Amino acid sequence: MRNKIIIANWKMNGTTAEAIDIFKNVLGYTGVADIVICPPYTTLSYISERLQGLNISLGAQNAHYEKNGAYTGEISIKMLKEVNVKYCLVGHSERRSYFNETDDTVNKKTLALLNENMIPIICLGETLEDRESGILWDKIKMQVLRALEHVDFKDVSKLVLAYEPIWAIGTGKTATSSQAGEMCAYIREIVRKLYNEDVANLVRIIYGGSVDENSICEILNTPNIDGVLVGSKSLKPEFKDMLKMC
Ligand code: PEP
Repeated sequence: MRNKIIIANWKMNGTTAEAIDIFKNVLGYTGVADIVICPPYTTLSYISERLQGLNISLGAQNAHYEKNGAYTGEISIKMLKEVNVKYCLVGHSERRSYFNETDDTVNKKTLALLNENMIPIICLGETLEDRESGILWDKIKMQVLRALEHVDFKDVSKLVLAYEPIWAIGTGKTATSSQAGEMCAYIREIVRKLYNEDVANLVRIIYGGSVDENSICEILNTPNIDGVLVGSKSLKPEFKDMLKMC
């Protein structure tokens, strides 16, 4: 049985002073879903200390695949582990479009994270143009195949695969539950063909893209969708109400 997972991506928002307020949104959560918060690097330590004893995990928004070295401005997996980061976003569309993240770096980061026992949350998604021209299926398949290259059987079920259509991220346009469910089922089928039925039944496949208090329930109740990745709404007080629905 796959437990639902709700991931909050704060993006580049939240000084430590602001983080106190944003963090209050998840305090008091009593549900059974896995909750992961991905704040900016500068607040990781602060949030990490406050998560002690709570059933909430810490995630990072990015990490470099090299262990250390001359990579100015980057952060290593070991540095993240030091502050108890358990999950890490990989290949978010904002990183792919603004910071040259490619399928190759997504694969390298996935392998490096798994090697350090951290859970990669691999983001996959198509543009509106891809969807309208019908190449979305091939596009997503290619992203999945490239991301999972050399990923061992024993590791695949630990991963989280996040279907995040680019046209839905930060736009207020949520995919319909049937569009999201159909794509998550398709991704699961790719994993099944690549590995086996057991692995495909275990891997968590989630949806992200303008999820809010009006859409969260329907999305979470759609077959094949094991959770949500929430961006802008995770910064707002409404997030507390969204969590109550899970
Ligand atoms: C995201 O950043 O992954 C995301 C889904 O953002 P939003 O909820 O704002 O669309």
